[in-house]
Amino acid sequence: MFSEKDLQALLDYSAENQVVSLYLSTDPTDMNTEASKLRLRNLLKAIDLPEDVQAIEHYVNLEYDWAAKGLAVFSDQAADFFKTYQFNVSLPDKVYVGKHPTIRPLVNLLDTFTGWGVVLVDKEGARFFSFNLGELSEMEGFTGDEVKQTKRGGGNAMHGRMGGADASGNVENIIEKNIKEVISEATDFFEHHHIRRIMIGGTDNNIARFKDELPKSWQSLIVGEFPMSMLASHSEVLEQTTKEALDAQKKVNKFLVNQAVTLAAKGSNGVIGLIDTMNAIHEGRVRILLVSQEFEQEGYRCKGCGLLTTQELDTCPFCGDTFERIDTAVELAVRDTLKNNAEVKVLEDVEPLKEAGNIAAILRY
Ligand SMILES: [Zn+2]
Repeated sequence: MFSEKDLQALLDYSAENQVVSLYLSTDPTDMNTEASKLRLRNLLKAIDLPEDVQAIEHYVNLEYDWAAKGLAVFSDQAADFFKTYQFNVSLPDKVYVGKHPTIRPLVNLLDTFTGWGVVLVDKEGARFFSFNLGELSEMEGFTGDEVKQTKRGGGNAMHGRMGGADASGNVENIIEKNIKEVISEATDFFEHHHIRRIMIGGTDNNIARFKDELPKSWQSLIVGEFPMSMLASHSEVLEQTTKEALDAQKKVNKFLVNQAVTLAAKGSNGVIGLIDTMNAIHEGRVRILLVSQEFEQEGYRCKGCGLLTTQELDTCPFCGDTFERIDTAVELAVRDTLKNNAEVKVLEDVEPLKEAGNIAAILRY
């Protein structure tokens, strides 16, 4: 499975000539193989690197596993560099050519779909899943004592009151005991799988009970809740968790954009627009970079200290060296940010970010 390490390798890659970055959606539930191959041919038409086009087509036609939903290929045949990654989540069709691999779609994927723990809970037990890059894996669940549904009304009027109270008291005890066990199993699961965010499926009551019993530190990681039966199939859980992960990510990203814009307006720890954001990146002040998926611009890079800028300057104000022209200043800004160990959030069609110039940042100081 694609990991941070793979992303790091792509970050470190620099082509002598040019590297092709290709992203293709191949979701078999959406389209057939021939349609995907046709879209690939159309995408590759725009590229004037015959050896790379041939290598990519060869791979897709002869080696690709069409059960996957998304494909990423990085090809620099002149340097014998060829990397392919398959995903269980769809990727938007895109092709890029440049000195470095274009990594924004992968950054977005890692940011949205890693570190998830999913819990389905009812009165008797729970099912646990880890969810990473579209791979949903079910772990060992927990089943406690059976909770017999008590009949309401009816029954024998003579024994009804006493018997009913005893029975329901007993049921409550069983439920209480079960939930304690569920919580203990759940926290073990979260710890062992390095879960960073949690979603819970069940009835409102069962979700509420689970949350109440969960220690505060784990409660704060809950970002999704949805109605779901304990008997849900793997594909039902997968569909729901994919949707929840996308929704949660959108919500967080929107919140961060608003925060950056507000902070920038106050002259506090926020910047908007390419020039100010590039300067903040260069100074190592960026904590979270927010950037539109498709935003790109030409620019200049200082040969000495690496300063990125959109204006052509004779000498660098930081180190006095000269500049070289670059085609993809925004992608380089993303790479610089990641290399500084700051977070990058890639957004699609978020209006306030577009208004802010398609790029903004929340600063460390
Ligand atoms: Zn410089």
